[in-house]
Amino acid sequence: MIHTQLYIDGQWQAPVAGGKRAILSPADETVIAQAAEGTRDDARLAIAAARRAFDGPWRDSTIRERAKLLNKIAELIDRDAENLARLESLNTGKTITESRTDMGDIAATFRYFAGLVASESGAVNEAPHHVISRTLREPVGVCGLITPWNYPLLQAAWKIAPALGAGNTVIVKPSNLTPLTTHRFAELLAELDLPEGVFNLVTGGAEVGAELAENHDVDLVSFTGGAYAGESIMKAATGNFKRIGLELGGKNPNIVFADADLDTAVDYALNAAFFHAGQVCSAGSRLMVEDAIYDEFIARLAERLPRIVIGNGFHAETQMGPVQSAAQHEKILKLVQMGVAEGARLVHGGKRPEGAVYEKGFWLEPTLLADVSAGMKIAKEEIFGPVITAERFTSEEQVLRLANDTPYGLAAAVWTKDLDKANRMSRALRFGTVWVNDYHPYFPEAPWGGYKASGIGRELSRIGLDEYTELKHSYINLAPKPMGWFGA
Ligand code: NAD
Repeated sequence: MIHTQLYIDGQWQAPVAGGKRAILSPADETVIAQAAEGTRDDARLAIAAARRAFDGPWRDSTIRERAKLLNKIAELIDRDAENLARLESLNTGKTITESRTDMGDIAATFRYFAGLVASESGAVNEAPHHVISRTLREPVGVCGLITPWNYPLLQAAWKIAPALGAGNTVIVKPSNLTPLTTHRFAELLAELDLPEGVFNLVTGGAEVGAELAENHDVDLVSFTGGAYAGESIMKAATGNFKRIGLELGGKNPNIVFADADLDTAVDYALNAAFFHAGQVCSAGSRLMVEDAIYDEFIARLAERLPRIVIGNGFHAETQMGPVQSAAQHEKILKLVQMGVAEGARLVHGGKRPEGAVYEKGFWLEPTLLADVSAGMKIAKEEIFGPVITAERFTSEEQVLRLANDTPYGLAAAVWTKDLDKANRMSRALRFGTVWVNDYHPYFPEAPWGGYKASGIGRELSRIGLDEYTELKHSYINLAPKPMGWFGA
């Protein structure tokens, strides 16, 4: 049994109120850990420690030291990648192959930001000879980093790497459903000789996140999660006008034109929607297929769905694991039922798979709801589970209008061999990422984030580092003398 603690001011400690939370395996509901459940009091201690560290020794850290730190973290992730991957699969239920990919991406993220930080330099501006004018990038200060349960350590890495690299101090708050890999990450950082208070971990629920959002000693909150919490963080942040970054949900159209390579588009439609059991903010859960190939597309999916191997993420043959929690399981089933009540056709799934191994745990069959129309609730709401809703369209103009008619704007994909159409669609779709003839790839070098209600700001890329910096104009007059504007 794993027991976790909080990491505050360079010390491992129990929560002030002694709180604990049982962490369940989503595969069989066994208790795999007792995690420290912090409260506002613990968040305040961590904020104070982060403040002291920011106002103290960390302020003088150099970009070379910080780039070295990020590279060292990447080495530690590589060293412990297999253990971290196993822990991630244990806690989230995702397949071990997916978790191994996550760990590779996490190390790459730290290395990418190490390189970027190392190349940082201010700019010297054109100015009179007796003046030195510089544009400088400085850290924002104390950063609260709040992460969700679907990609626990990956989402944390996207925030921690640029935040520390830019010279900030951090308090990390993972989801209290999936704190284990972030806790293990804190153990790795404790191996390094970071000044106390630079990195703090406070596990716990919404109240810890709310304290980070409200506390005036926090200068920036970066949050990945749902719209409901995002809204409350945005409101709370007005208290001291702290900087916010929000990575929220999505309802992502996967648009297939009749001229697409059908075999590939069908194959990717499965990957887009069922990777990590659909618990991906950019999941291609809203399938939109052109009229001429719609029936064949649905038939081909119907043939593939029963062949998807659902099971324990540690088994080599498993292609899809369970969903994260009982609450999520119930929510997804309700949305599927609502879809059927609205008139959608249930082609496959919509229930717990049969068999003794699926009686415990949060299992769902991969589900296909066909003949969905844009007005239905299931075509609008984020389902965040292994469910495809399929709509038929008849023209480019129509599908563009329907795809953009959503409050979200995270990701979209287009399948066509017509490059002109691909280009038109990429430009016209109002989403932060638009893939053509592919689904899901992202790179640390490219920005990630959403239009509209999918968020504010961007992670990864140069912009993802800039989000953790303040810009300063430094003006030094080397030869001051009276100006005489108001006479002698
Ligand atoms: P959630 O909003 O319930 O929780 C996210 C985090 O916020 C957790 O750590 C939680 O404890 C904390 N939290 C909850 N209420 C809070 C509050 N009022 N104040 C401060 N913190 C609070 O989200 P979730 O269920 O963990 O994650 C699923 C959601 O995350 C989905 O909507 C998904 O689309 C989104 N997501 C988005 C991205 C992206 O890059 N845009 C990536 C992953 C997940």
